[in-house]
Order: sequence, then structure tokens, then C-alpha cells
Amino acid sequence: MLHKTACESCAGSGIRMIETSSLLGLLKKQVPITCEDCNGKGEVLEIPRCETCGGRGLLGNENEICRTCNGTGHLDSFALIPLELVQPGTTFARHCDRCKNDQFEIVSLKEQHRITRTWEAEEELRKVDIIDRVKVKCTGCSNTYYITVDPRHHLPVPVELIAELENQGLNLSFLYAGRSPLIRGLEPGAPPAQPTA
Ligand SMILES: [Zn+2]
Ligand SMILES: [Zn+2]
Ligand SMILES: [Zn+2]
Repeated sequence: MLHKTACESCAGSGIRMIETSSLLGLLKKQVPITCEDCNGKGEVLEIPRCETCGGRGLLGNENEICRTCNGTGHLDSFALIPLELVQPGTTFARHCDRCKNDQFEIVSLKEQHRITRTWEAEEELRKVDIIDRVKVKCTGCSNTYYITVDPRHHLPVPVELIAELENQGLNLSFLYAGRSPLIRGLEPGAPPAQPTA
């Protein structure tokens, strides 16, 4: 799901040329510098598009905001919550469109929900989808809604990609919330946890 592509700023070389001038601008020369966009690696992590809305950020004919990605069209913090953490009490970064708070909390267990897509008179002709969803609530106000849990998202985040995702503005703080085994051993300097007597 998460993969790297060549950095556009440096065409994958990791180096960019900048022009410097000296002697009151009479001498110009090209100097190579490390590309800041990829830290000289030549490749960047591509944030995949949201599969629930196909990258549109909107759903259906009514153009409802896609809550899986909060209208962004690509994976946001919610989509990166590993499936075992999609449960009540997990908080994640998301902008609230009612109160400008930036954090939501999952407040229900994952549940199945039937969505009727068409309205044929005969019930057995109707197209029905079963989706998984969870209820979430803004931690700053009473804004509450359901988010479709897309099984194509919510995969374990490879440890080596965590820093890079965070550099791109994705807040993965739920991975550090204490109950996740996914990140244990990440801090090399930290002493091993001592059992409390
Ligand atoms: Zn680059
Ligand atoms: Zn979406
Ligand atoms: Zn709010």
C-alpha cells in the first residue's frame, strides 16, 4: 500500500543544483546541494489515494464529504490506524469542521452496516453493500459521525516509514499511545521496561 516514488524536485538524484553568485554578482556558478524534499534519498513516500472515494474526497451524487479521508482524497491519519487499534479510546488527528479542533476519538466498536444503493421495488433486486464502520467523536465538541472502515487501509505501518509519514504531516500518535505493540523497541536508547513490584 505504501510505496516510494522518485522525488520530483531532484528527479530522483537526491541532489539539486543552485546558483550562487559572488564578486557582486559577476561570477555565477552552479553548486550542488542535498535535496530538501527527499533529504538526499532521491525518493519520497507517496501517500496513496483514498480507496473509499477513489481520490475524489466526495461520495455519491449528493457530493457528501468522504469521511474515510475527511475530504482530502488521500489517506489521512484515520486510514493508517492499524485494524487492532480501530476500537473505542483510540484518538487520531483530524480537523473538525464544526469547532476547529484537530483531534477525534473512536467511540464505538467496528460494526457492520447495510447500505442500499438502489431502490428497486422488489427487495431482492436492490443492490446492497455491507460495510464496516465506526463512530467517532470530536474531542472538542459534540460533532459525531460514522467513518467507513475500508479494509484496504489500516495495515500495519512499517517502522521504517513512520518518521517519513510524520514528515509529510500525518500524525501517527496513536502508535505511541501505550497499548500498541507495533512500535516497541523503537527507541534504541531507552532502557527496557522494568516490571513494577
Ligand atoms: Zn529530492
Ligand atoms: Zn475518501
Ligand atoms: Zn469539534
